[in-house]
Amino acid sequence: GAKAQGRGAWCFYAEEMTQAARERLTLESRLRQALQQGQLVLHYQPQIDIATGRIVSAEALVRWLDPDEGLIAPARFIPLAEVSGLIVPLGAWVLAEACRQGQAWRAAGLPEITLAVNVSPRQLRQSDLPAAVAQALAQSGFAAAQLELEITESALAENHEHALRILHQLRALGVQLAIDDFGTGYSSLVQLKRYPIQVLKIDQGFVRDIPHNKDDMAISAAIIAMGHSMGLRVLAEGVETVEQLEFLRAQGCDSYQGYRRSRPVPAAEFEALLRAEAGC
Ligand code: C2E
Ligand code: MG
Ligand code: MG
Ligand code: MG
Repeated sequence: GAKAQGRGAWCFYAEEMTQAARERLTLESRLRQALQQGQLVLHYQPQIDIATGRIVSAEALVRWLDPDEGLIAPARFIPLAEVSGLIVPLGAWVLAEACRQGQAWRAAGLPEITLAVNVSPRQLRQSDLPAAVAQALAQSGFAAAQLELEITESALAENHEHALRILHQLRALGVQLAIDDFGTGYSSLVQLKRYPIQVLKIDQGFVRDIPHNKDDMAISAAIIAMGHSMGLRVLAEGVETVEQLEFLRAQGCDSYQGYRRSRPVPAAEFEALLRAEAGC
């Protein structure tokens, strides 16, 4: 009857929970090992100046190259790294690797571009983030002005005063600061105007349904206008179609990234894109 069924459902649920917890633990220790054994790689997605059509920067995006499973997307392990605290050493590795690669491209005579690196909420909460950034810059020799840190709007709203202090310390190092996934967080305009930032990244959720969703078009246009009147550059994420790009161009958006131009690609492939464009 209903009672037996209820009990069965509970057992099934409990069993599932245990399995989920077990899988989480396994994944966590595998990730820890992957970090130690150098199984993480960065892919680079071009960011394009809309007016000139040229690559001006790239976002570094981490991938886990598992010997058995192949390439594992960050959605599967970044949230876990975040709750387990593994994001701190992982994030330090990402910073160091992006700076090392950026400096190697500079040394090879490639056009100077900015590299954007994602900083997670947990990393922002650590008060030694500025020290970690300074170390990555010093060890690589990469120019601070060519490093951009992407911080999500929700991470900033979490502990506003602390976040603001860290942002000012980062800015004092000479790096550029961007708000990632802008429009999806909860920072007020009062908070926004206090952030020492240079770039707003319009969340891809507002770009996806252009030109069909009039509300998304109005929001994107408003973010561009507001960003510009605050002296910020505005980049649109997730641009896939020519219609989206033309709408953004008409609104005066500065730059974009998205499958329209290129997916995130391995370093060697990104280097080839840069060389092809520069003719070197
Ligand atoms: P994000 O920082 O907002 O990165 C943009 C994501 O959008 C990337 O997914 C990128 O591949 C994807 N994307 C780019 N263009 C398009 C497009 O035209 N269409 C669609 N549908 N998607 C597009 P990815 O690489 O899977 O990364 C997902 C998220 O994982 C990132 O979102 C970021 O929050 C996090 N992440 C990635 N790498 C790192 C990292 O090194 N550190 C930290 N803390 N987080 C990272
Ligand atoms: Mg990002
Ligand atoms: Mg984003
Ligand atoms: Mg995102």
